[in-house]
Amino acid sequence: MDILLMGPPGAGKGTQGAILAERLGLPKFATGDLLRDAVKRGTPLGLQAKSVMEAGHLVSDDIILGVVREELGRAQARRGVVFDGVVRTIPQAEGVAKILADLGRKMDAVLFFDVTDDAILDRLEKRRQIDGRADDDPAAVKVRLKAYREQTAPVLAWYEQRGGVIHIPAVGTVEDIADRVREALKRR
Ligand code: AMP
Repeated sequence: MDILLMGPPGAGKGTQGAILAERLGLPKFATGDLLRDAVKRGTPLGLQAKSVMEAGHLVSDDIILGVVREELGRAQARRGVVFDGVVRTIPQAEGVAKILADLGRKMDAVLFFDVTDDAILDRLEKRRQIDGRADDDPAAVKVRLKAYREQTAPVLAWYEQRGGVIHIPAVGTVEDIADRVREALKRR
């Protein structure tokens, strides 16, 4: 089963993605994590992505589709993947659909984590104090939210037209939200 998690920065995709992946016994794949790791290790991919990421902009569609293709070629990914924040533009949605189709698969479910702007700012500020991520500083957060609204939010309509999107109210405790995810996937 292939499941895509979408939502603004700070919506809790990473936390819920880890819980869901563990429950379903599937790998979780987050392009953000993969890119941060590449930056840390100073690989060619990391060198390309570093300044773009730190400023809060989106990395190019070609780079993202390259890493998605690579991830889906791994043996661990053959039964499905929990995609955490992997699709952020319409060309990425189209490209990922094509890569999955070539494998005889499709995105089986798209979950959107719905959260208010105030909650996002609050969560990202807390995360900045704990993790010290460069792109959680207020200037970069502003750019990330703009990129989200302009480039990622329209992707929801793309999926709405092709099988639908499950909206999860992402407020409450981690357990409450995980329960909502489980129930929503059962009902589909
Ligand atoms: P995240 O950890 O999901 O918040 O991602 C951190 C940063 O990585 C983003 O602000 C982007 O610069 C980059 N990134 C992660 N996933 C993508 C993607 N699918 N498309 C473009 N950029 C991405």
